[in-house]
This record gives sequence, C-alpha cells and structure tokens, in this order.
Amino acid sequence: MRIILFGPPGSGKGTQAKLLAEKFRIPHISTGDLLRAAVTQQTPIGLKAKGYLDAGALVPDDVMIGLIREVVTGGVAKEGFILDGFPRTIPQAEALDRLFLEIGIRLDAVISLRVEHDEVLRRLTDRRVCRSCGRIFSSGQLLKDAPAKCPNCGGELFQRSDDTLATAKKRLDVYLRDTKPIKEYYRRTGRFTQIDGMRGVTHVFDEVVEILRKAKSSPRPV
Ligand code: AMP
Repeated sequence: MRIILFGPPGSGKGTQAKLLAEKFRIPHISTGDLLRAAVTQQTPIGLKAKGYLDAGALVPDDVMIGLIREVVTGGVAKEGFILDGFPRTIPQAEALDRLFLEIGIRLDAVISLRVEHDEVLRRLTDRRVCRSCGRIFSSGQLLKDAPAKCPNCGGELFQRSDDTLATAKKRLDVYLRDTKPIKEYYRRTGRFTQIDGMRGVTHVFDEVVEILRKAKSSPRPV
C-alpha cells in the first residue's frame, strides 16, 4: 500500500496517517516529523531547516527531495508507506514520480482532505501533540483541569511552536500558493480522490479505508 495523504495543514493528515499505519502496518512518513526530529538533533538538515519551520515557510525543494529519496529508497518503506506532508510543491511531485519510476514502484492512491480555511486555523491553534506517542489531540478533547497528559499513553502534551495564529495563517497562505496546485497534477493522472475532511476522525478514516480497498482491487497504471 503506497499512499499520499494530501491537504492543508490541520486537515487531519497526521491523525489519519497514524491510524492507517496501525491498520495496515506500514510506516507513516511525515516530512514535518522528520524535520522536527532533525532540528532537535541539530543534524545538518535540521540546522538548515529550522528557520523555515519557525517562519511557517517551505524548506527548499532540493533539501526535501534529498530527504525523501533517502527514506523511500531505505529499507523502511519497502512494504509500502503513507506519505504525509510530501510533496508540497510541483517540483517535489515531479521528483517523486521520477524516483518511483527509477525504483519501479507505483502509488495506489492520492487522497486529499478538504477542510475550510477557518476550520484549518481553528484546528491548528487548538492542536496538542504527545511528545511520546505522537498522537494529535484538540484541546477540547482534553480535560480542562487535569495536567496536560496524553489520553493514549500518558505522555507529555505540547503545542507546536508553528501552531500560533500568525504562523498558522502564513502556513495556510503557503499551502494555497505552492501546494494546492499539486491537486491538478495528481487529478490528471487519475489516482486522485478528494474527500470531506470536515467530518469526525472515524468518518474520514472509514472513507479513506474504502477508497484504499477499491484502489487495491482495481490497480491503476501510474
Ligand atoms: P507539517 O508537520 O507537515 O505541518 O510540516 C511542518 C513544517 O515542515 C512546514 O511548515 C515546513 O516548514 C516543513 N515541511 C514539511 N514538509 C515539507 C515539504 N515537503 N516541503 C517543504 N517544507 C516542508
């Protein structure tokens, strides 16, 4: 199963990707998570990427394409993967196609989560992430008075530094300008499905699973 989850920041890609990774036992590759880990570990990529992440801007294509090449050609992604946060520009989408061609693999589906702009900003500024298991919550799901602990594993919850309103707005603008055009790129190739991401997590998940079931039973050329 090789899947791209697509959509604006805060559309639920990370949440759905984690559920899919558990269900299908395939790796969830989040370029945002990889970059944040690189920043924490102060690797050369992390040092290059930090300023872009803080500003809500895109890390340059050459850095991202190099990173994704390493991950996809490495052993981890052999049996399939869920890509979350890549591609984010047309050159990234083109580079990914070339990479797949080179290593002889095909995408099963590109699934786009459609969420209204106001809701994107609401979700981003409301989001809390578990430092241990990586699960994502909205502050409304958490007990108001209790200390912020992950309902899944008890880990520490935190708010991402780029989830402030100002940076969230910037990220949405960047999405609309640089990332949204990729929809047309994938629409032309016929593996693209857009679904309503405004609904609850379980509804969205059920629909994604159904799309993947259909995609698997009628493989399409890529
Ligand atoms: P995310 O966790 O997917 O919201 O990504 C967080 C940040 O990481 C983005 O705002 C960008 O600064 C950077 N980033 C993640 N993926 C990419 C990508 N494919 N291209 C460029 N920058 C990226």
